[in-house]
Amino acid sequence: MTGQSPPSSLLEVKGIEVVYDGAILGVADVSLRLGRGEIVALLGANGAGKSTTLKAISGLVVADRALVARGSIHFEGEDIVGIAPNLLAQRGIVHVLEGRHVFGHLTVEENLRTGTFLRRLSRRDTERDLEEIYAWFPRLKTKRRTAAGLTSGGEQQMLAIGRALLTRPHLVLLDEPSMGLAPIIVDEIFEIIAGLNREKGTTFLVAEQNIGVSLRHAHRGYVLDSGKVVLSASAAELRQREDLHEIYLGLASA
Ligand code: ATP
Repeated sequence: MTGQSPPSSLLEVKGIEVVYDGAILGVADVSLRLGRGEIVALLGANGAGKSTTLKAISGLVVADRALVARGSIHFEGEDIVGIAPNLLAQRGIVHVLEGRHVFGHLTVEENLRTGTFLRRLSRRDTERDLEEIYAWFPRLKTKRRTAAGLTSGGEQQMLAIGRALLTRPHLVLLDEPSMGLAPIIVDEIFEIIAGLNREKGTTFLVAEQNIGVSLRHAHRGYVLDSGKVVLSASAAELRQREDLHEIYLGLASA
């Protein structure tokens, strides 16, 4: 442990640099913080460093032969750099990877049940938690016996999020939940995220290229460009910025 974060702070990332294969710079200088109960958007174009930042937080950088070479990450006051992803998952960090990773040959419900394995729940508690997820995602209930691989992209994204929530996380990292989905489904997913946040206090860090929908639902946002945070403000302020697209695409001169 290298120090304490303020009590209200759930996550504090300071000046991290992430290097792939000992040579390729994934992110150069990212600092951000999340308070409990916030939805924070991490915005940026392709390759800006959003996924790398999320992987640094969940520890999954190791799976890509990368490491946090500089800076610090404190979660619930404790330095977590170098802690294995399975241990971080037990501590309450859940990472929903880009691209809707579900077990295609398992049914929707079997996929959801894998989310409960981390906690040794009684059968009754498991069933209760499953019903709660079905209440948030009614589409999943109607498809509970369908092989996940046969469901739509939107349903698979909901399934990946639902499964993550079944770990009862303290922090949910969502990597591009809107990717490849129709706007109406994206809205539906973000409405559910906002509802979970409002009613259950679930904290989300959402990496997105889709500025519009993320800033409609997030409280604050950070904009990444070429591995650096170039702007951070409340969602309301970011929505007002007319130059956001330019900054976001790295077009602003300074
Ligand atoms: P995208 O939306 O395309 O995922 P992103 O903002 O999430 O973009 P990252 O995937 O984090 O960006 O990529 C940041 C930088 O790290 C890019 O230059 C990318 O080429 C590099 N990078 C990402 N993954 C790897 C990897 N496995 N090996 C080497 N370099 C990588």
